[in-house]
Amino acid sequence: MRGVVLHAPGDVRVEDRPDPKIIEPTDAIIRVSAACVCGSDLWPYRGIEKLDRPAPMGHEYVGVVEEVGSQVTTLKPGQFVVGSFWASDNTCEICRSGYQSACIHRVLMGTLGTQAEYARIPLADGTLVATPGLPDADLVPSLLAASDVLGTGWFGAVAAQAGPGKTVAVVGDGAVGLCAVLAAKQLGAERIIAMSRHEPRRQLALEFGATDLVTERGDEGVARIKELTGGLGAHSVVEAVGTQESMTQAIRSTRPGGHMGFVGVSHDVSLPGDELFFSLVHLHGGPAPVRQYLPELIDLIVSREIDPGKVFDLTLPLDRAAEGYQAMDERRAIKALLTP
Ligand SMILES: [Zn+2]
Repeated sequence: MRGVVLHAPGDVRVEDRPDPKIIEPTDAIIRVSAACVCGSDLWPYRGIEKLDRPAPMGHEYVGVVEEVGSQVTTLKPGQFVVGSFWASDNTCEICRSGYQSACIHRVLMGTLGTQAEYARIPLADGTLVATPGLPDADLVPSLLAASDVLGTGWFGAVAAQAGPGKTVAVVGDGAVGLCAVLAAKQLGAERIIAMSRHEPRRQLALEFGATDLVTERGDEGVARIKELTGGLGAHSVVEAVGTQESMTQAIRSTRPGGHMGFVGVSHDVSLPGDELFFSLVHLHGGPAPVRQYLPELIDLIVSREIDPGKVFDLTLPLDRAAEGYQAMDERRAIKALLTP
C-alpha cells in the first residue's frame, strides 16, 4: 500500500509500505477513506521533535472495516468507522472513568501511521465507533475532524468548564482552537473570545460561534481579555498551542477560580510555581480522551447540527501529502485532508 513516511525534517515521502495485517485477535484492518495532517505532525516536520529513523505518519482517520480479528465482537467488514489517535480498550478502570487517552493498554496510532491506504487498528472494539450506515460523502471531513481536532477542542472546552453564563477565551487559532470555539458554543457558553490575527481563521471562528475576536497576543492579549471581562479575566480559557507564550497567556487570561483546559501538545513549557500558586486557576489538560466524546460528536455531525469539517481548507490526494505539510507549515492552510 501507499503511505506517508517522514524521513527527516521537511522530507515527507509517500512510498510503498507493507500492507497491515491482523496481529492481535483484537485488531481490525480498515481501508482509510480520509486522513489528514495534524498540527502536532509539524513538530517533527520542523525538526523540533527529534526523529531517530524514518517514521510512518498520521494518527487521524476514518474508514471502512476490511477485516476483523477473531476476538472482535462489535464490528464487521463494511462498516464505516471513526477512531481516535489513541487505541484504547474502553473497558479498563481509566477508560471507564472517561480517560481513554491514558488507557492501561493504549497504543498510539501515530506509531502505526494512518496517512496511508490501510491501517491496523488495535483494540478495535474499544477504539472504533461505527456510524449509522455509510455517511454521505460531504460528512466525511466532519467525521474525520471528530477523530482528533474536534474531540481535542471539545475536551479543552469541557476541561475549561465552558457552559451557560460563562465567558470562554480560546488561545490558538489552529484547527483545535477553532473546534474549541465550536465546542464552547455547543456547550452553551455565553460569550466566546477567539484570539487570532489571521483573517480566514477569524472568519471561521465567527462561523463556529465566536462573539469577540482579539488580535493581540502575549501580555497585550491578556490585557485585552481583562478589558473585555471587567478586569477579571475569562471564566474559562482553552489553550490550544503548547508553547510557553500560549500557556502563560492562557493562565493569565483566566480569572481566579476559573478553569483552564490545555490541549496544545506541550513543548518546553515550564510554569513558575509561585505564579500558579497565586493564580487560583484550575488547570486540566493533556492528550484528549477523544473516544469518550465520539458517540456524541458523531450524532451531532450526522444530524448536521455541527460542521467541523470546515477546518479542512485544503484537500489533496495522498500522493501529494508533502504539499499538505508544507501548506500547513507556512500557515497557508488551516488543515489538509488527504484522500488515499
Ligand atoms: Zn482502557
